[in-house]
Amino acid sequence: MLGRARGILAGKGRALLVAAATVLGLAAVAASHAATVAASLLKVRLGGDAGQTRIVVDLDHSVTARVISDGSGDRRVVVLLQGVATSGAQGAGVGLVKAWVADQTQSGTRLRIDLGGDGQIKRRFLLPPADGVDHYRYVIDVAAEDPGQVRLTNAPAAVRTVKLRAPLPLKKVVVIDAGHGGHDPGAHGADGLEKDINLAAALALRAKLESTGRYKVVLTRDADVYVPLEDRVRVAQRADADLFISLHSDSASEPGLRGASVYTLSDKAFARATRFVKADDWFMRASLTSDPGVSDILFDLTQRATKNRSATFAESLVTKLDGHAPLLRRSHRSAGFMVLLAPDVPAVLLEMGFLSNPQDEQRLRDPRQRAALVDGVAASIDDYFAQTSRMAVR
Ligand SMILES: [Zn+2]
Repeated sequence: MLGRARGILAGKGRALLVAAATVLGLAAVAASHAATVAASLLKVRLGGDAGQTRIVVDLDHSVTARVISDGSGDRRVVVLLQGVATSGAQGAGVGLVKAWVADQTQSGTRLRIDLGGDGQIKRRFLLPPADGVDHYRYVIDVAAEDPGQVRLTNAPAAVRTVKLRAPLPLKKVVVIDAGHGGHDPGAHGADGLEKDINLAAALALRAKLESTGRYKVVLTRDADVYVPLEDRVRVAQRADADLFISLHSDSASEPGLRGASVYTLSDKAFARATRFVKADDWFMRASLTSDPGVSDILFDLTQRATKNRSATFAESLVTKLDGHAPLLRRSHRSAGFMVLLAPDVPAVLLEMGFLSNPQDEQRLRDPRQRAALVDGVAASIDDYFAQTSRMAVR
């Protein structure tokens, strides 16, 4: 119900805007990650034209906000409304805005705005209740980067008849992490190294996902270089990832052991990770576990919901890989490995097979057989987002 609500600001908004910008200045940048819920998102309204578009977020309390992406360069505005609760909402755009979605994160409501052309945040401010309006309004003005695009007219922005359209789907951001690299080779096979197989699979998966037009893909590395775990985490955070998948190849002393397996974080490790994140502010330091199979693995998760979404994806991955690649008997395992990622990003780690097994190594080294595995992973990603968007619409 919240999702489809849209409205248009009348010309009066312009006068308010000047006054508010003077009195309040820009919204304060708060530092607290662990903000308690202090406000609720009531409604999101849009108005304006192709030169300038205003987004108004109606709230029942005051709020502070943090800009994660201002739209410059990537046609995407992301603003975190700290401590704001939402049940999720989305809608079609007006003017510069193509579509928007608001969803709940650990720190508050994340508002993502996809722009139809070049534009960026020009100003943002909070309006307190006034002039017969009984709630707070957080206002974001997005303007075209190219001044030539702005229509020079004294008339107020065209007030359009509000027609409900199906919201345009936003591109999902998938971060693919090719394990190891550079001076860290990972597992050794008879004919090659894990780091090279991981990278080849990551590049193939990127190509496959990008070919659908539905995904923005970010790699933590696209060459044979060493990337510290903390840097992989930052890549995912900066990308504002919707999903994180780490690709690895296993090794075992038992040469008969073969097949792919998928890891998410176990309850025990989850509790520990949560504590760690609270103590160390988003980042966890690598602490090798006693589990020999996963000691080189990177992972994350701190939020119960994120963990559940990770499990959803992991189950989908196991299902879709079946038939594309041999699987270990208990293919979805949870383990106590160290995890290093943004707390809000659902994440899984895929061990694609065992380099200590000759058949698996052959399968992973052969581009055609690797492509079959990559197809299965891509299908599971499609499946995961189809499931999560159905949940959001409900
Ligand atoms: Zn590995």
